[in-house]
Amino acid sequence: MPDRFWEQPIESGPQPTSGSRFDIIVVGGGPGGSAAASYAALAGHRVLLLDRAVWPRDKTCGDAVGGKSLSHVEELGVRERLEASPHFSITGVLFSSPRGDEIQVLRPDGMLSGYVLPRLQFDHIMFQRACELVLEVGGAVMQGFSVREVLFDNSANGPDPGPGVGDLRRVTGVAGDTGNRTKPLVFSAPLIIGAGGVRCPVATAIVQETYDGRMVDRGKLHYSAAFRQYWRNVRGATADSGPIEFHYIDGVLPGYFWIFPVGGGVCNVGFGIALRDLELHNRKLRGLQEFIINEVPRFRDRFAQAELVEGSSRGWQLPLGSPRPGEQFQPRRAFASGAMLVGDAASLVDPFTGEGIGNALLSAKLAVAHFDREVHVRGFPPEAGAEYQQALWDKLGYELRNSYKIQRLTRRRWLLNWFIGKARRKAELRRVLTESLMSREAQAQLTSPFFLLRQLLF
Ligand SMILES: Cc1cc2nc3c(=O)[nH]c(=O)nc-3n(C[C@H](O)[C@H](O)[C@H](O)COP(=O)(O)OP(=O)(O)OC[C@H]3O[C@@H](n4cnc5c(N)ncnc54)[C@H](O)[C@@H]3O)c2cc1C
Repeated sequence: MPDRFWEQPIESGPQPTSGSRFDIIVVGGGPGGSAAASYAALAGHRVLLLDRAVWPRDKTCGDAVGGKSLSHVEELGVRERLEASPHFSITGVLFSSPRGDEIQVLRPDGMLSGYVLPRLQFDHIMFQRACELVLEVGGAVMQGFSVREVLFDNSANGPDPGPGVGDLRRVTGVAGDTGNRTKPLVFSAPLIIGAGGVRCPVATAIVQETYDGRMVDRGKLHYSAAFRQYWRNVRGATADSGPIEFHYIDGVLPGYFWIFPVGGGVCNVGFGIALRDLELHNRKLRGLQEFIINEVPRFRDRFAQAELVEGSSRGWQLPLGSPRPGEQFQPRRAFASGAMLVGDAASLVDPFTGEGIGNALLSAKLAVAHFDREVHVRGFPPEAGAEYQQALWDKLGYELRNSYKIQRLTRRRWLLNWFIGKARRKAELRRVLTESLMSREAQAQLTSPFFLLRQLLF
């Protein structure tokens, strides 16, 4: 690998002609799309991977590639590349309360909890690997290709297995172009995987067909907004391994401030808050972050000698995986006849931690596992899509529900102060917190009123 390989272009091979047909078209080459294309190619499918960006490209993020991603990083054969590039090794998490109490939660087995590395690097590694695997089995990759339209076949739905499953039109392909004045190109496949992130055109088409615009009103409840910057020389955060930091701070609650070192003395520093809570503040995200860094004494001191990396200030949205009451498919419908959604396109970001990469990788693997090239040659059926979504919620529903509960608990300042203060002194609470990094049962305990009451009283 050349030095600073993430600044180099990625060779994506010969370009397909308009009208070409593939086994699977993947729209979007972020972690979700690159993983979907890679898993599909590893299973021998002919894939077309499309992204409107041209690598090298950045993505606004906190850059933490958490524990859930590790098995996928291994399976997709990118662990060595990742570890050979500059990164920070996560060994635990540090939380601080509005009162300023701090606790550190470390994995009890001392194992690595994940990496932090700029998305400029991580996405380069993932997309390059996807290109290699896709081209090896006769597929194609297009960079700089924007999908503008999702194509439907109104007549080919087949027998309707019941309301809510086979009721959407069949997706048959996509149309798009490589620039404003270029001719539109059309591609088709029995399965289209929507991995285009928060504004994925495939997700927009499915959401519009399913919810008929209703999602717009309810959107704020299930979205967060976040802002990130890179800083050099933040005091106490210049090592290449250690805990990542989450801070709850008076004046910006119930949002949280993070400091995630990326290695080499640089930190990803950001602020995230649910969209409905942002409305309670009369400042924008950048203003809230400036307030923390310039005016809150414990951070003002840590940033006194630090330098902002020019041009690194950016904000973006996070579509949360919080459960939607009354929905048949949780967190919201992520399939149609001929299509499945993965990652942010399927709204899978953890409502408490803001992590979305792990769930993007996991959903990509699951989606591909539900496709059978021989059986689905004439079109991916909605029943298989419903099974994918059920399997996804079986895997993620429990933790996403708990994370949503924890997110709501953090809206109470007294509870944050009490909880973090108590955890500093109480071994039992520290143990549950530590185990919650690995165990779903421990996460559930954290949201149990009985457990919290017992901790409060005794
Ligand atoms: C400020 C911030 C901090 C975050 N911090 C973390 C963190 O620390 N850890 C974590 O795990 N998660 C974090 N997240 C969430 C994480 O960034 C996402 O969950 C993750 O990027 C989802 O991956 P994805 O592949 O689904 O989508 P994306 O990474 O958004 O990739 C989508 C891709 O689709 C392409 N695309 C979009 N539209 C089209 C189109 N019309 N045609 C062709 N291509 C298209 C885009 O160019 C892009 O490459 C954070 C998010 C934000 C905003």
